Parts: sequence; structure tokens; C-alpha cells
Amino acid sequence: MDPDAARRRLDEERTRLEGVRGAFAVEHLDDEDESESISELSALDQHQADIGTETFEREKDFSILERVEAELNDVEHALRRIDDGTYGTCEACGRPIEEERLEAVPAARLCLADQAAAERDVRTTGYRP
Ligand SMILES: [Zn+2]
Repeated sequence: MDPDAARRRLDEERTRLEGVRGAFAVEHLDDEDESESISELSALDQHQADIGTETFEREKDFSILERVEAELNDVEHALRRIDDGTYGTCEACGRPIEEERLEAVPAARLCLADQAAAERDVRTTGYRP
């Protein structure tokens, strides 16, 4: 991909991800107010179910936020690689990343084959029973 086009795509992606992260930050400010009112009411049994849902929603939010942070890291990493001229090459084997793959995932760090291998590794070694 043309580095200027890639940079535009990555800039757009970064703006989008920062927007998502910002929206979460605002939501979490609201959460703090909410949790105060919930703790005041927590002696009442009928509120236990609500608190359980609240905890679950927060954990879900947290994992989404983690993913957004990880994607932002990838985007910033890709922008640095445009600067130093290594953008578009696989970080594992050094060969050019497929053009269609960069179109779909501008922040891709690995070619398709190495990405598949990396995901296989996560599945076989990342699982702790
Ligand atoms: Zn590769």
C-alpha cells in the first residue's frame, strides 16, 4: 500500500479508537456515581441481582477497553513503521505483507501465514486449565 494512503487510514483508525476510548472514560465517570448509589442500597436483597449485572457489564467494558488499547498500540506502531520505512513488511519473516491484508487491516504486523501461526500458538500455549 502507498505509505501516504496507509498513514491516512491509520490516522482515521486512531481517531476512531481514541473516540471509543474517550466514550468509555465518560461512561466510567458515570459508573462511579452509580456505584455510590448502589452501595447505599446494597443492604437490600432485591438489589443483589442488579449489582451482579453491573459487575458483569463492567468486566465486559474492561475487556473491550483492553482491546481498544491494544488496537491503538498497533496503529501507533504501524505509524512509526511508516516513519522508519519498514511499514508493510512482516515482522516475523520480513517479506511484504499481502496488499489485500493491509487494505483490510492497515495496522497488520504479520503476513497471513505468520498471523495464522501466531494465532495457533496462542490457542495451543495460551490456555491454562
Ligand atoms: Zn511473515
